[in-house]
Amino acid sequence: MHLALPRKWRPRVFDDLVGQEGVARTLSNAIAEGRVASAYLLTGPRGVGKTSTARILARALNCERGPTVHPCDECASCREILARGESLDVHEMDGASNRKIENARELIETVRYAPQRDRFRIAIIDEVHMLTTEAFNALLKTLEEPPPHARFILASTELHKIPATIVSRCQRFGFRALTVAEIAEQLQKIAAEEKIRVTPGALGMLAAAAEGSLRDGLSLLDQTATLSGGSVDEAGCAEILALVDRELLEGVFSAAASGDRGAAVATLGKLFDAGEDPRRVAREFLSLLRRLLMLAAGARGDVPEADQKRLTALSRAMPYENLLRAVSLAIESDALLRRGDDAGIVLQMLVLKLAELPRLKSIEGVLSGAAVPAAPAASASPLRSDARGPRILSLVSVEAEEAAPAPAPASPADSLSRFSNLLDARRRVTGAQVSLAESIGVDGDDLVLRFGIDKAAAKEALEEPPVRKLLAEVAREAFGRPLRVVLKTGPPADGDLGQAAREVPREAISRERASNRAETDPVVRSAMELFRAELTEVKEEE
Ligand SMILES: [Zn+2]
Repeated sequence: MHLALPRKWRPRVFDDLVGQEGVARTLSNAIAEGRVASAYLLTGPRGVGKTSTARILARALNCERGPTVHPCDECASCREILARGESLDVHEMDGASNRKIENARELIETVRYAPQRDRFRIAIIDEVHMLTTEAFNALLKTLEEPPPHARFILASTELHKIPATIVSRCQRFGFRALTVAEIAEQLQKIAAEEKIRVTPGALGMLAAAAEGSLRDGLSLLDQTATLSGGSVDEAGCAEILALVDRELLEGVFSAAASGDRGAAVATLGKLFDAGEDPRRVAREFLSLLRRLLMLAAGARGDVPEADQKRLTALSRAMPYENLLRAVSLAIESDALLRRGDDAGIVLQMLVLKLAELPRLKSIEGVLSGAAVPAAPAASASPLRSDARGPRILSLVSVEAEEAAPAPAPASPADSLSRFSNLLDARRRVTGAQVSLAESIGVDGDDLVLRFGIDKAAAKEALEEPPVRKLLAEVAREAFGRPLRVVLKTGPPADGDLGQAAREVPREAISRERASNRAETDPVVRSAMELFRAELTEVKEEE
């Protein structure tokens, strides 16, 4: 049976933890010296080893030969925790999927009893910040007078949402996001062990897309390897990550940097024409600007080695102070995007503002009395008729019009398309995984995602509790009501035509998305305004 890489390569001892050396050392020392706290709080971004650490810690505490830094892996306690994350005396609960106070109270009550077999009765509560106030109160009461055998291992991605009274009673360990280089190195090691061939460029792409999470990196490696038959290259990666065409994106920047607003907007248009989701393009563009600024400031940061030379050259296309302004404008745009403004328009405005930066420089020259450099020749732009001479640049973002509330989705296909778009915007990796589904459909109160047998890895990645939570949140937003997310493998059961009819094939959704894009296209929009027309159908170009 194919075992998904994230699970297969889950750290089994403290020394396996990647990038969390401080945490591993402190915990190992404490256990070696027999100092066992009654509650641990593990915080940090997702996919960096918190749950793995909780399980290693549980094994270290409850091993028949423990407490020990090196659990035996042979006693009943060790074997049970290794197999399913739980044991007779170790109870695991995910705050994200099991929020009810009854469950939390039940778990906390269970932990108060003496262990049935092992040294401690341990509760592992993942995403503990999701607990209700009542559940927190129950937890607090137990933590204030911890029964001698009770141990709590709490984990959370959002420390600030946990009541200070809880935090102060825990020994806290902060986990950090991994750098692109750390993830790439680890992926390379595991790929070699798994006999997966990966080009260096592809490794860099996977590591960057993992956004600091080794688990996501492994999951992506797993999927690309499955799809490509064990040989992963840049083209294969680009396909699964649906990466924005890098050359075009960098072309937008260099056109804007040279003040050529016509070319900048046209290149941006090409990206949208190629079918890229504006929100995704916007995110990629913001991250490009940030990287260029880092390189211009002399910090290599998270820029993969393969990209450094090219991007360093690109960063010199703009004077440093303009690059600083560019990033500050980009941050304002990001705020508009987060507010839900139309990504296509926000991005166009940003690019046009950037294209003004070279002219702003010349105004400063005028003010300081220095010789005025000739303003770069601005090419004719369909959006601005007066393209000549220096102009004053407003560094204040243009206030978007009062955002109209999103209209109620008209059809299931609308909602599904909205679901895909929202998901892409929230988390690209998850969006890519969902896009591998054979069908997506609503059945009563269930949102059913069906995966082919060969896409089991994608399905498994979506089963991670935080990812399920995200899916449920986005589904609620897209459909306007809570839906239970059901992940299935294989074809619909024979004879279930009703079910099949309710499911919308992927092509219908991408058609919907093409229609959404057309509505955000500035040319189509202005034409629509002129003629007060409505888009009735969008034909996809073959
Ligand atoms: Zn053991």
